[in-house]
Order: sequence, then structure tokens, then C-alpha cells
Amino acid sequence: MNPITTGLLGLSVADAIGVPVEFNSRDELDQNPVTDIRGYGTYNQPPGYFSDDSSLAFGLAESLATGDFDLLDQARRLLRYKHEGYWTPAGQLFDIGITTSRAIDRLLPLVTAGRTEELRHLRAAATEFDNGNGALMRIFPLYAFLRSRPLGDWLPHIWEHSALTHGHLRSALCCFLYLRLCHHLVAGKSRVAALDRAREELKHLFDQTEVPAAEREELSVLLGADFATLARAQVQGNGYVVRSLEAALWALFRGSDYRSVVLAAVNLGEDTDTTACIAGAPAALCFGAADIPDNWLAALARREDITALGDRLHRTYSH
Ligand SMILES: [Mg+2]
Repeated sequence: MNPITTGLLGLSVADAIGVPVEFNSRDELDQNPVTDIRGYGTYNQPPGYFSDDSSLAFGLAESLATGDFDLLDQARRLLRYKHEGYWTPAGQLFDIGITTSRAIDRLLPLVTAGRTEELRHLRAAATEFDNGNGALMRIFPLYAFLRSRPLGDWLPHIWEHSALTHGHLRSALCCFLYLRLCHHLVAGKSRVAALDRAREELKHLFDQTEVPAAEREELSVLLGADFATLARAQVQGNGYVVRSLEAALWALFRGSDYRSVVLAAVNLGEDTDTTACIAGAPAALCFGAADIPDNWLAALARREDITALGDRLHRTYSH
């Protein structure tokens, strides 16, 4: 299976495993840990239903599969998710993060008037509060577009897309580290080697661009921690982009296969679906699509649509 379809299945299956226990605390999950696919729970949805994380990633994938990086089209598809249930499991939205929801509302007048230039400059208005995990959770498909492009193209495109909802540099830097990790996993590197390489590239970016020292400080765990030995008590699967990526990486290194990575992420509690979704793509790239448990994949809503979308996106950028 191609890496784009593998990543899309990896992230959406993981999202669906986390959905029924979203917002459960770690204590609650320690009492009753998730050990297999479940349904219902937090949103009362059947097993295999994925949330906003996957729906918004699929919207980005559809946009990029047109062959273009078109911010206006990307923004339009974010709006369609909120207003039409676009790319939801059954045509109905049941979950949307607060920052993402407000940010999508801000897009409406710009999209209606076709003000693409203003969409391109949304980052200028961003504050430190625009650092939820809502861009990171949906960024994976951008890898298909970026993978054959020079490294210098990566951050500008990542930041433009991220800024549709999360404009702060920190969100873009987390997305950069994440997509470079995915890139090195696809190239066949081990988890350790892939993360080491992605970290070096991020540090190099700091040296080349004017990244404030405070950002480097805030990303210190992402840049330096040994995730294989980091204690569970040291990570938090919450909605802050930095903590969220730390938690996903912790799970990626803690697990020994796709299943154990996803369960480790979900059982951290809080933003369970998003932590799992972020860990799910690299886990599938690392262990292979065939390692996703059959009963999880069989339950996944719109599995055939997702596979077809991944194949289409992959083909668009393989020449
Ligand atoms: Mg969600």
C-alpha cells in the first residue's frame, strides 16, 4: 500500500479508537482502559466513527488531490465540514474543537469574497493562544504534496495551511517536525533515526530563520527528550499542540506495534482521539498498514472512500 493511504488509514482508525473516551481522565482510563475497538461513549457514535481530526484531514487531502495547493479551496472545505458535515462518517458533524470552530467562522467572509491574499496573511494576527492541536491533527495529507519538494518549501506551505485555523509559528513548527518524522519513516528509517533526523532539520530551521528563543525553549522536550524512556507521568494528551505532539511521540515510542501505540495514546486520557490520530499516521508508516488490526479496519466508517482518496492523492504527486 502507498504511504499516503497507509497514513490516512492509520490516523483515522486511531481517531475512531479514541472517540468513545474523549475527555475521559487518565484516572478513569486507568480503571477501565481501552483494550480494543469500542463504540458509543462520549458522543454515542457506533464503533469505527472518526471525528473532526480525520474529517478535516480528508478535506485537505481532497483539496490537494486536485493537483494544487489552493488555500481558498482548503478554507472552503473547512467551512463545508462545519456547515455540511463534509467528510464526516455519516454526513453529520458530532465533534469540533473550540479554536477550530471559531477560526472556521472567521474564514467565512474571506472565502465568500474570495480574498485569497488575506487568507495567506492570517498568521499575522495569530497569538500564543492559537496553539491548539487542530492544525497538527489534520496536517498529514500535506506530506503528499511536500514529499518531493525541497526542504525550504516545507515550512512556508505548512504555516499557510496551519494558519487557516492556528496561525502561531509554534503550531507550524510542530507540524514541520511531525511531517519530517513521517517522511523519514517512509524512507525506511527506524523511529529513533527518523526522529533524530527530523529534530536536526528543525534545529537547522531555527538557525536559518528568526525563531524567537522562547519558541525553542517551549519545544525543548520535542527537541531533546528520550521518548523511549520518558515516564508516562511526564506526558499529557491535552489540546495544546506541544503537549499533544509530545504525547503522540511518547506513544509512538512506547508501543511495539500499531495497536499498542494507539492504545497507549488513547489511555493517556483527555484529548484521546487527537493524541491517537497524531500517533496513528506515523505508527502505520512505521509498522505497515497490514499491522492495523483487522477488526479495527473492518469497523472503520467509509474505509473504501478513504482508501480511494489516499490512492488518488498519492497518484497526484507521484511522477
Ligand atoms: Mg476529534
